[in-house]
Amino acid sequence: MRIFVIGSHREPLMPCHPARARELLREGRAVVHRRYPFTIRLKDREDGIRQPIRLKLDPGSRTTGLALVREAANGTQHALWLAELEHRGSAIRERLATRRAFRRRRRSTLRHRPARFNNRRRPEGWLAPSLRHRVDTTMTWVARLRRLAPVTGLSQELVRFDTQAMQNPEIAGVEYQQGTLAGYEVREYLLEKWSRQCAYCGKKNLPLEVDHIDPKSRGGSDRVSNLTLACHECNQDKGNRDIREFLANHPDRLMAVLAKAQTPLHDAAAINSTRWALFERLKDTDLPVETATGGRTKWNRNRLNIPKTHCLDAACVGDLDRLLGWNVPVLGVKAAGRGSYQRTRLMKDGFPRGYLTRSKRHCGFQTGDLVRASVPRGKKAGIHIGRVAVRASGSFNIQTLHGVVQGISHRRCSLIQRADGYGYAIKPKIAERKDVGTGAACSRRAIPPRHECQGSPAQKRWSLGQ
Ligand SMILES: [Zn+2]
Repeated sequence: MRIFVIGSHREPLMPCHPARARELLREGRAVVHRRYPFTIRLKDREDGIRQPIRLKLDPGSRTTGLALVREAANGTQHALWLAELEHRGSAIRERLATRRAFRRRRRSTLRHRPARFNNRRRPEGWLAPSLRHRVDTTMTWVARLRRLAPVTGLSQELVRFDTQAMQNPEIAGVEYQQGTLAGYEVREYLLEKWSRQCAYCGKKNLPLEVDHIDPKSRGGSDRVSNLTLACHECNQDKGNRDIREFLANHPDRLMAVLAKAQTPLHDAAAINSTRWALFERLKDTDLPVETATGGRTKWNRNRLNIPKTHCLDAACVGDLDRLLGWNVPVLGVKAAGRGSYQRTRLMKDGFPRGYLTRSKRHCGFQTGDLVRASVPRGKKAGIHIGRVAVRASGSFNIQTLHGVVQGISHRRCSLIQRADGYGYAIKPKIAERKDVGTGAACSRRAIPPRHECQGSPAQKRWSLGQ
């Protein structure tokens, strides 16, 4: 991973190698500007040579992949910095549901109020708060990275498949060609059309294969209307039998598959409002925005033999011939929020239990700050580094990599970085990650399920990590 470098007047310069950053710090020519993402500030320079840097995004429902790459002239891109931004949409949804329940009870018990639940009008382009949060946090990181690196262009995966070319593939006669870009677009189209499940047994969340309804060996075509998705078992079971023969005992299912095969997918199903909202916001940054399809991302990834993670998906978005330096540690960023407005805790029956203080900051610290506590003696002797949870009494808890250390006095704490609403962790290189298969191991024909990449418990420790 490269280190961000800014000039003495905070102009973004080209990121440098960690060894170079250490040298600059040792010589006293630079100071640490920020811990996460690690940034140094040069004391003696304002300017430097800049090369084109592209920020690439793969927006996901739970995790967004971010990749900064340096663009060379021959279509080669060098990965400079990779990150995975974990959203908190579900936490927001839960909190709003709780708030709604409190408000209902408060407003309904005491007196009669006229019904007002239906008197609000939503503005054009309104997104639910949990979805808007995804756009907002992503834009926060786009702005933040533009302050740390001289970004000259943006790339975003906008749609799952090429809506222009695939507008009406059933009628336009687009054919499935395994391994080609068109083949990948067709796969994404089929995933959307067949709702990411096996058409014959309905199983979900397992690798699916493209299956010819009329087998190729019996003259079936590669036309999209002759294709469906099946799990490996069903595909093997069906072999080169005719579908009418294969599903002879399931007439309902046979009818459903045949009917669905003939109906083209309306492209509305492929349009994701959050992705489009993000695209609109990216256009406002006055940087050129390249958009690409999920089919192309997958094609690039398989062609270049790169494993699937959120950040590597981001790095594979759009036009590229070669990607270098992608096997590096990744910065995990988790949206942690900035605390709660609720000023009381509740018992399990919903009765209030005590009240919280109005001020968020105690003894100069705030919950979420990154601190270093040095305790000279006693049971908790040692150095503790992590996110702090403050109490008005000045006795703090610190969430370290090895668990929570309770009751550390504020006098022992020194600030490393102020809370910014995110938790950080460094995830190891791909080779050392157990949750990621290698690109070579992926079957060329099987379509992996769309799942969120699950980290091992060690990678899920969010407070602070090296
Ligand atoms: Zn099946």
